[in-house]
Amino acid sequence: MKQSRRKFLKITGLATAAGAAVGYSDTLTAAARLRRRGNPAPDAIYGNAPAPEARINDSGQVVHNADFTVASTVCIGCTTHCGVRVKVENKSGTVVRAAGNPYHPLSSDPWLPYETPLHESLRWTSNHDESGLENRSTACARGNIVFDKIHDRFRVLTPLKRAGKRGEDKWIPISPEQLIEEVVNGGDLFGEGHVDGLAAIRDLKTPIDPNNPEYGTRANQLGILGTADEGRKDFMVFRFLQAFGSKNYSGHSSICGLSMRAGNAAFLSDFKKYPHLKPDFENCEFLINFGTSPGQAGNPFKRQGKLLARARSEGNLRYVTVTPMLTNSDSIAAGNRSRWMPIRPGGDLALAMGMIRWIIENGRHNAAYLSVPSKASMERVGEPSFTNSSHLVVVAPGHQLEGRVLKVSADAGKEDFLVIDSTDGQLKSADQVDAARLEVDERIVYGGERLAVKSSFTLLKESAFRFSLDEYAKESGIPAEEIADLAQEFTSHGRKVAVDCHGNTMHTTGFYTTWAILSLSALVGSLNYKGGMSAGGGKFTDMKGAAYDLTDYPGKPKQPGIRIDRTRMAYEKTSEFKRNLAAGNPYPAKDQWYPFTNAIETGLITGSINHYPYPLKALISWNANFVYGESGGQNTLAEALKDPRTSIPLMIAIDPFINETSRLADYIVPDSVLYETWGELNPWGAWLTKTNAVRYPVVTPRQTTFANGEPVCMDSFVIEIGKKLGLPGFGSQAIKASNGSLHPLERPEDFYLRVFENVALDTKPVPDADDEEIRLAGLQDYVARLRKVSPENWRKVAYVMARGGRFEGKDGAYKGAQLAKKYPGMISIYSETVGTSRSSLTAEQYSGVPTFYGARLVKGDLLAKRYPRSEYPLTAFSFKSNVVSSPNTASSRLRDLRYTSTIDIAARTAESLGLAHGDVVELTSPGGRIEGLLRVREGMHPEAIGVEHGFGRSGEGAITVQIGNETLDGLRFRKSGASINLLGFADPDRPGRIALSDFAVGSNSRQVIPVRIRKISS
Ligand code: SF4
Repeated sequence: MKQSRRKFLKITGLATAAGAAVGYSDTLTAAARLRRRGNPAPDAIYGNAPAPEARINDSGQVVHNADFTVASTVCIGCTTHCGVRVKVENKSGTVVRAAGNPYHPLSSDPWLPYETPLHESLRWTSNHDESGLENRSTACARGNIVFDKIHDRFRVLTPLKRAGKRGEDKWIPISPEQLIEEVVNGGDLFGEGHVDGLAAIRDLKTPIDPNNPEYGTRANQLGILGTADEGRKDFMVFRFLQAFGSKNYSGHSSICGLSMRAGNAAFLSDFKKYPHLKPDFENCEFLINFGTSPGQAGNPFKRQGKLLARARSEGNLRYVTVTPMLTNSDSIAAGNRSRWMPIRPGGDLALAMGMIRWIIENGRHNAAYLSVPSKASMERVGEPSFTNSSHLVVVAPGHQLEGRVLKVSADAGKEDFLVIDSTDGQLKSADQVDAARLEVDERIVYGGERLAVKSSFTLLKESAFRFSLDEYAKESGIPAEEIADLAQEFTSHGRKVAVDCHGNTMHTTGFYTTWAILSLSALVGSLNYKGGMSAGGGKFTDMKGAAYDLTDYPGKPKQPGIRIDRTRMAYEKTSEFKRNLAAGNPYPAKDQWYPFTNAIETGLITGSINHYPYPLKALISWNANFVYGESGGQNTLAEALKDPRTSIPLMIAIDPFINETSRLADYIVPDSVLYETWGELNPWGAWLTKTNAVRYPVVTPRQTTFANGEPVCMDSFVIEIGKKLGLPGFGSQAIKASNGSLHPLERPEDFYLRVFENVALDTKPVPDADDEEIRLAGLQDYVARLRKVSPENWRKVAYVMARGGRFEGKDGAYKGAQLAKKYPGMISIYSETVGTSRSSLTAEQYSGVPTFYGARLVKGDLLAKRYPRSEYPLTAFSFKSNVVSSPNTASSRLRDLRYTSTIDIAARTAESLGLAHGDVVELTSPGGRIEGLLRVREGMHPEAIGVEHGFGRSGEGAITVQIGNETLDGLRFRKSGASINLLGFADPDRPGRIALSDFAVGSNSRQVIPVRIRKISS
């Protein structure tokens, strides 16, 4: 020890001499003389570092620090929802640190075998025996600090009722009991006239509109908007909204990644469940990130970044990131393993179609795989997936079967498709054929008549061949040779290739963009292949499980009717269509319908504002922030919502903060934050084995409580409403056990602990947690509740809670060269659903295969024509940082890391416009303007303007609000930066004020915004 100290002094002495010469003499001299500066640190080696939660003693035993509890739960710092372990200081009851949960695949790889004892897991993540970084389980930079939000002074902790007009930012605190009374029974709540409460709105008999009976009953006039599913969506939907009898729930997908989800749904032939794919990063050999940037953003942010970094350094991965801006995904250290390909914003569709063209033209597609026509033949020949490339589509114009795919039987429910057997040229059931003819363009006899048919593959080929490679190059901004090179490389790695896309597709042709990108993977057959594409690893049964069916309950009403956002319904099935047809011409409808979209968040608002198809009487906005999150939301929604008479008469926001949307509500119900909350959830993407994470309050929620002691939050709020309304599925006889007995739903734990029990008992039940594990996991306070809710299985539930969920082992990921958890359905090269649908505004037939469309308005006019480059020479797009995310403005420590945002421009573009780094500039679009600091940089496409999403806030502490007699002054730094969504604008060809959106699926367009730039000051 003494020797080490002498050596240290010697070294610092030398350093002092060297440092003096370069200007650090004062600091180094102080260090060398060990001069005191400030209070002495408690530890000579670790200084002021906080005490660890456990340590490994000299005998290798784990010694737990009784000052702390370490609980396994889930981080909600972003939508990845990683499993984490949080360290709670027992004395203060506050979270002091978050680290990864070593059992959870989103935080560790490899993750711990599930049966590993808890105390072993502490050793595993320590540096004992030099295990070092190998076994570390991590939270990202954001996850490490975002929990300071819990104690933010702008949190809403008691129910608020607006005191002035909507949006005036004046509130009065009210009791939880007054809140329930008023929202249930209504009345003249604001001195502005009578407002119906939820009791009056829940009318399951009276039609909304007798002239349009398909709209359903008046109960549909309650809408609920949620956000990314952090483990409570099923509770809200199954237990509350469905018990109420409304169909109108939407998450945030339409302002996040709906174009991507809808394109996946078309590709995977499932518009009900909306599955989606992610690459198998770990074993992939060639990956193209279209507009996604692993390591920079995306979901799962942490896991995909980690796998990508490992695969490019230890595995065989090479990848290309195609974005308008160079991001963290590219790495000089990775050498030629990674490459950035700059593209015009919105140019991905042209690039993907150009690649499809080149691949087919050069015979680089996997014809043998594509000719496998059915699941039965797939299994016979040992393929991992199959497509409908060889299925026959009727192309006879005007024929009643036009656009239909031929089946053996006319029974619409049966999937017995007809194909031409390539061995004998005969028409047969796809189930009987192992190799069907891929290219078909002929007339066949079907149902006694000769019908013109083409195969799906032929239709895709014709679609891709509509434009030359040079034309695709012009549209994408990527030279034709580079498109060809990319296609060649993509087809040079067998099936160990993958594609990825997400937020980049949020523009007017994003649905077809996604479908085209995914079709690249079909051309080589990478779905379900090791190193290819995966639809996820599944989960242990949770809602409808071995112990309880939590989705059903006695008296659950049917939910007739159509959704207010006009999704999941073809206009051609409405009474309006029939009336218009009888009057001569069914087109146009009053506005667009979306037969193959699952939900459009802001469609609930605009449908109500425009009374089409019907108005809402009440909206519950639960942690939703569509006013900030929708491109054009401030311009199209905020003003309208300010008037309850013409928009929605009763608006309740369940939110821990006053944000851009909840500030427009009539009531704000406080919600719990991060580690105060219950929940059960599965990963969103890039996992290959069964994974269920659980959340339960590991710190005491700060909100005020109901009379029964439950903190006011979403769950307890809807339970109290449910009981007051007498809804089925609430109260003492509410939850159905598999043995037929009924159990109470009085508190959130009555539901969530039973979800955990289902998870614990699925397939082979988990072991019992012993007393030591219960102590180590800090579950002592839960034992009484566990014994009460799950008397027979409470130790198994504790076992799941102690590990933060249930996780299948990594060895369950593959079977030979294929994924063990395969997507079971068919890949649609042609989609009958899409190919037989029309725009209800123009009767335009949608293409049934991926095809190129230029960025356009809903009726087909090109943006480039309506907003010419002479007026708007640049195109703005949004991107995300790896630190700040839009729902985390209230984390002051995060904003310490990233104070503000900039407006980014390419150096050569700035020079040509006479702009300089640091100028204050104005961007103007056809619908709005923003100001910001200009950042001039290399690594940008010259036509692009990048604006980071998440800044320029007018909520979560950025604005001054009055609550009772207290004025809370907004913080300038929370307001700083520019919000790109203020540039969004309404589609001028639609009635009402509806933000520009994807013409086929209605997702919000925020990535291709025509703009011009002007210097305001230097
Ligand atoms: S990626 Fe980071 S912020 Fe997001 S959930 Fe995981 S740890 Fe939290």
